[in-house]
Amino acid sequence: MSASPVTPRRLAVLLPLPLAGAYDYALPDDLDLAPGDYVRVPLGGRTLTGVVWGEALGAVAPAKLKPILARLDFAPFPALSRRFVDWVAQYTLSPPGAVLKMAMSVPDALDAPPDQVVYAPAPAPPARLAWTPARLRVQEALQDRPPQPLAELARLAKVGPGVVKGLAEAGGLIAQRRARDPLPGRPDADAPGPVLSADQQKAARALLASQGFAVTLLDGVTGSGKTEVYFEAIAACLRQGRQALVLLPEIALSAQWLARFEARFGAPPVVWHSDLTHAARRAAWRATALGEAKVVVGARSALFLPFADLGLLVVDEEHEGAYKQEEGTLYHARDMAVVRARLSDCQAVLVSATPAIETLVNVETGRYRRLHLPDRHGGALLPEITAIDLRRAPPERGRWLAPPLVKAIEDCLAAGEQALLFLNRRGYAPLTLCRACGHRLQCPNCSAWLVLHQRIARLQCHHCGHAMVPPGQCPACQAEGSLVACGPGVERLAEEAASRFPKARLAQMTSDTVSGPKAAAELVRRMSGREIDLLVGTQIIAKGHHFPWLTLVGVVDADLGLEGGDLRAGERCFQLLSQVSGRAGRAERPGRVLLQTWMPEHPVIAALVANDRDRFLEAETQARREAHMPPFGRLVALIVSGPDVNAVEAHARALARAAPKGEGIVVLGPAPAPLALLRGQHRRRLLLQTRRDLLPQPLVRDWLGGCKAPGRVRVQADVDPYSFF
Ligand code: ADP
Ligand code: ZN
Repeated sequence: MSASPVTPRRLAVLLPLPLAGAYDYALPDDLDLAPGDYVRVPLGGRTLTGVVWGEALGAVAPAKLKPILARLDFAPFPALSRRFVDWVAQYTLSPPGAVLKMAMSVPDALDAPPDQVVYAPAPAPPARLAWTPARLRVQEALQDRPPQPLAELARLAKVGPGVVKGLAEAGGLIAQRRARDPLPGRPDADAPGPVLSADQQKAARALLASQGFAVTLLDGVTGSGKTEVYFEAIAACLRQGRQALVLLPEIALSAQWLARFEARFGAPPVVWHSDLTHAARRAAWRATALGEAKVVVGARSALFLPFADLGLLVVDEEHEGAYKQEEGTLYHARDMAVVRARLSDCQAVLVSATPAIETLVNVETGRYRRLHLPDRHGGALLPEITAIDLRRAPPERGRWLAPPLVKAIEDCLAAGEQALLFLNRRGYAPLTLCRACGHRLQCPNCSAWLVLHQRIARLQCHHCGHAMVPPGQCPACQAEGSLVACGPGVERLAEEAASRFPKARLAQMTSDTVSGPKAAAELVRRMSGREIDLLVGTQIIAKGHHFPWLTLVGVVDADLGLEGGDLRAGERCFQLLSQVSGRAGRAERPGRVLLQTWMPEHPVIAALVANDRDRFLEAETQARREAHMPPFGRLVALIVSGPDVNAVEAHARALARAAPKGEGIVVLGPAPAPLALLRGQHRRRLLLQTRRDLLPQPLVRDWLGGCKAPGRVRVQADVDPYSFF
């Protein structure tokens, strides 16, 4: 045996890269490192920032081992966050580096923020200072305000920046240095909240009594005060000095929620979503990591922020499909929030008026506790829901509003109240076809029709964004002017509404017309201020807004969501329509909801009309139980995709041949995905279904490990799939 060289000490470092597990690096003698430390390491000619993950794996030969270059001076990536990254990676079958990348989404947040110069009034300005009117305005602007940066001060005082500089040089202002990120506001736990009703109090007490890890479903109709109740849990968390995280499905659209929070706690929460400026993201990330952000409200990705001491998680509208991330690492934020709470040994509160079947089954089996708020606050009545049978009362040709709905809108507007028309379809028309030859305009990259958007005069693919000017002649038969728009989208509905109710002040609310949080807040303000009589929109109007004068909701195509035909189509449709209905009559004025449908006897429609949520959910749950579908069985979808249809097909078949077998395991497919062509990629799907007590992840790992995809063919695993496209 030869003398072994001195083996350098080594550590495993995880890098935020989509295709990586942890790599080994040598630990130089002069560095003292612990797991969680952020370090700079070399990788293929670059220098990257990663996190010390733990003991070395030992796979790299000593000669090839690269050294860790430096340690960054920042609070370590917390141990709980490391366990969370590993857990999510394991569960979703993703590389840990891809999950870490979500947690380290603002790399430069680790650097100390640059200082900033701010100006304060000089305590003793020179007696001979000339106080021009402009200078006086600057002085005034600083009354009751903390020191301000130059540009901001000039803006506030309505003077040029030269005036501020001049005043500083003359000794009227003093310049100070301050860290650039302002500290987040401090929500006040003891600010007085509303007086809770007896039911609300009972629920709040139960939340406060909870210790350690627990999951609670806060179940109550819209307007029952669920938000007020979980605000109490936030207050309790603040009193303990710990951090709270609230997930909202559409944070960019939640101006009303933010205003309510600030009114209740006297300071805004720290906000986290993809529309933030880089500086705001950076400040939010740092404040969360350093424990300065006491309440964070965010979209699903907020779950991966490196909280210093997380003491409460709230998932509002827990049933929302938006919580499933459908790109990159495919995870469900509600489920991962429960995991995160377990790691932190704290409470998770799931909030909904129409809880997911998965959640209700967890209540039934005793894993989750349920707190119930049965009534709307202040005695507001639930809206009366009626179906309009389109077979008996069809709209006129080329129109979409049936006579009873038209009449109801007229009455509502005549009474000076507001109405909302809901159609979950963007654009003007979902399909354009040629009257001469029947040709349908399709996306060249996707198996999907092009949607006409008249506002911008484009045909658009909603899957890949392909857009074109509507052609003057049919691309198939060259007939002139033969293309017709079929079916309604919100734009077309708004057109009809404008012609039927010419005096009504009309507005549209869709993701095409409302570009961001500001535009959404403005629309909500106009609606609340009764500057709008009739609002036409897609599902973004369903979300949590509270308009006291809104008394009529017309659902133009209640059957639309039922067409999907996947596992959860009925449940989703029920949830969405309940939520839209919940917009009507939240204050003293009772609300009405009219559902236009071709199948009033469908269980979803019947349950909505009868206001019988529980019977509907029982039937749905039973059907799932019988079919061994989630949550009674487990699903993993494999999506095989690539540019070459033959290679994709061949690999999908190879996967099917190599599929795991055994008791309680079923593999379906391969089948062309409903979107068999998406963004130029051909797609095939396989579906693994296992019994609930069989973990599918190890099966899938072995399966994919033994059946390597050829180049240009990609296999994506989707654990607990929600989308079947
Ligand atoms: P949910 O979250 O269940 O939809 P909210 O908490 O939004 O219900 O309450 C609906 C409305 O009723 C809100 O305007 C809220 O401020 C008001 N509200 C609820 N509970 C109370 C209460 N105890 N006192 C005063 N107002 C309340
Ligand atoms: Zn397309």
